[in-house]
Amino acid sequence: MAVLLVTGGMGFIGSHFIRFWHNRHPQDSLINLDLLTYAGNPYNLTDLQDSPRYRFIRGDIADAPFLERLMGGTSIDAVVHFAAESHVDRSIREPATFVRTNVLGTQQLLEAARREGVPKFVHVSTDEVYGTLGTSGVFTEQTPLAPNSPYSASKAGSDLLARAYYETYGYPVAVTRCSNNYGPMQFPEKLIPTLIIRALRDLPLPLYGDGEHVRDWLHVGDHCAAIAAVLESGRPGEVYNVGGGSERTNLEVARTVLKALGKPDTLISFAPDRPGHDRRYAIDASKLTGELGWKPAYTFEEGLRSTVDWYVRNRTWWERILSGEYRGHHLLKGGGP
Ligand code: NAD
Repeated sequence: MAVLLVTGGMGFIGSHFIRFWHNRHPQDSLINLDLLTYAGNPYNLTDLQDSPRYRFIRGDIADAPFLERLMGGTSIDAVVHFAAESHVDRSIREPATFVRTNVLGTQQLLEAARREGVPKFVHVSTDEVYGTLGTSGVFTEQTPLAPNSPYSASKAGSDLLARAYYETYGYPVAVTRCSNNYGPMQFPEKLIPTLIIRALRDLPLPLYGDGEHVRDWLHVGDHCAAIAAVLESGRPGEVYNVGGGSERTNLEVARTVLKALGKPDTLISFAPDRPGHDRRYAIDASKLTGELGWKPAYTFEEGLRSTVDWYVRNRTWWERILSGEYRGHHLLKGGGP
């Protein structure tokens, strides 16, 4: 009968994780703490709205007095920390927001959890903290941190704070570093939903540079299972890489999306490259698979096909975002704890 505090649960991965845990642990309760920034979409969890084991609280992870009230007044067994500013392009335009939420917010959350003695904490991070690879090699947990964007630098800062809270205070926090996720309900600014939605509207699919940048794609359901494994059996103070072993160039991804939708490759277009754009990511997830028995269930082709189908069948979900209507959801008016 555990109570989990999930931050950023109205976002893409956090909302999948809440549903995943809610459905697999019928004794447990979940508190979703989310500020509802532009990336927080209350429509992501309307199916759980009436569950007695789910509660939404609107709040800011960088607001220390708010966190103290929340954690002081509720017995929490674990924090699973997703809340972040997560889009690299936005971090180039407004880096300060990323430092505030990702660095300061993570520190405030760690501090509140430590003070209240919350016995478990999983900090969800990204492989982007390792920087970029050339044509060969993979990131292991020992790869030095070398972030290249304000987003990845702010995530690296949050990872180092997690490390410091373990080393300095003995606070039991584990860190996961995952490759690029995809799946239903991903905000349309990210690559795969952008490609699908633009293709559905017969608009050009813009790729940065030559389109040969490589990402290791992981289905969000597999990511949730990995985080659950770390939460249940991961060792405090450890870092676990999470990856799908599905390296694809952006050009390959765009062609696969177009093929699935029966649209022509001529929709692909090229835009000037992004500054600081990492060329290639690849993950060695053998620590997670060896220690905790996790492995991805989806192949990239199956996962992408079902994701494309989801966007085709759930036009209202993404049209509400394009029109801005999702911001009018009644939960946006919700108060604090
Ligand atoms: P997202 O942008 O879809 O969601 C982020 C959520 O955090 C939103 O609901 C937003 O409202 C909330 N939030 C933002 N600032 C907040 C604040 N100050 N207080 C409380 N809530 C706040 O992000 P996502 O893609 O679901 O990513 C979740 C986590 O996973 C992030 O930490 C990200 O760095 C990490 N990650 C993402 C990927 C990926 O491919 N999407 C890969 C690896 C790691």
